[in-house]
Amino acid sequence: MFDIIVKGGTLPDGRVTDIGITDGRITAIEPLETNARETIDATGDLVSPPFVDPHFHLDATQSYGTPRINASGTLLEGIGLWGELKQVMTIDDMIARALTYCDWAASMGLLAIRSHVDTCDDTLKGVEAMLEVREQVKDYIDLQLVAFPQDGLYRDPTARANTIRALDMGLDVVGGIPHFERTMADGAASVRELCEMAATRGLRVDMHCDESDDPMSRHIETLAYEAQRLGLHGRVNASHLTSMHSMDNYYVSKLLPLIAEAGVSAVANPLINIMIQGRQDTFPKRRGMTRVKEMQAHGITVGWGQDCVLDPWYSLGTADMLDVAFMGMHVAQMSSPDEMARCFDMVTQQNAAIMGLDDYGLHVGANASLVILDAADPIEALRLRAARLCVISKGRIISRTPRMDASLSLPGRPETTRRRHRTS
Ligand SMILES: [Zn+2]
Repeated sequence: MFDIIVKGGTLPDGRVTDIGITDGRITAIEPLETNARETIDATGDLVSPPFVDPHFHLDATQSYGTPRINASGTLLEGIGLWGELKQVMTIDDMIARALTYCDWAASMGLLAIRSHVDTCDDTLKGVEAMLEVREQVKDYIDLQLVAFPQDGLYRDPTARANTIRALDMGLDVVGGIPHFERTMADGAASVRELCEMAATRGLRVDMHCDESDDPMSRHIETLAYEAQRLGLHGRVNASHLTSMHSMDNYYVSKLLPLIAEAGVSAVANPLINIMIQGRQDTFPKRRGMTRVKEMQAHGITVGWGQDCVLDPWYSLGTADMLDVAFMGMHVAQMSSPDEMARCFDMVTQQNAAIMGLDDYGLHVGANASLVILDAADPIEALRLRAARLCVISKGRIISRTPRMDASLSLPGRPETTRRRHRTS
């Protein structure tokens, strides 16, 4: 007897089958004739493993407009604005805003989030708040917290000590921001020290890396070198890498094999990259997103991240990883059927690999976490940013959304109901 059977759904690889769930785990993927306490008919709908966001800022979300908006739209004004804001925010306020975002995420089938947490604050109230949020959502969202010295490990006088304290308090991943240190040399030194910190503690690394339009920014080179030197293969992620967009092509032809060899993954944040980068350009204007397809062609794992929702850097956003992938596929011109399907895989399987999630995916023995989408396949899900009809987390139904049907009353035509924009 299963707790839940999901009947007749289409998996991302095209298989049509049933999924049996028992005690929070997937216990069968095959045609099932037995009973269950709850049976969900997913005929004609896509059944996917949950969405995963490997790059977010949960401590800043939903603060848009407080105390003012980012007038220039740049990264640097956003950092300055956040600096004002974090002085006046309370722990309770941060927890409340983050929990609201987690509600949105749950309703969108986004069940694993890696969030950077600013450690440049002597009170570390953001760290305290996010640890509380991690605890409160742990039964339905896997939250990984990155110790992130937002104002620079060396540039901010107490960032180094506070980052170490934050890791001692239980943050999961070591972060950094080498392009914001005072010099390239300081940036490289910060990468080295932070990677050593991670190696000593047995933690993963995820740095904001080369988030600029500077074609000479070279911190990814140092990050790959340190990952190689310290044996951190498969445990280091480079976020943003927007400078790679502007780098010399010869240099990139040398760089990509080094990143691949070091087992360093990359996360592009297309909504934020396309909005923030290139602000000093006239025309032609750079896209400000890293070289996604080109890295993938070298065997580098690349994911799409959300980065920001309603905060000092970005005034929009809905916790919908299909929005993120939709923007990414346009900016990276990933238009072939294989590339479009890969964009869906990036916000599910690839992002899960970057976060190192155990028990993820649709296979027997995995966590029973999945999403039923109002779409026939991954490409249609992207085209429609399809409704998440049902979200199951660790064997529990946590969200339902009505199907998007349109009732049409057109002159000269019989009244009809159509599944909105679906071709099937
Ligand atoms: Zn970020």
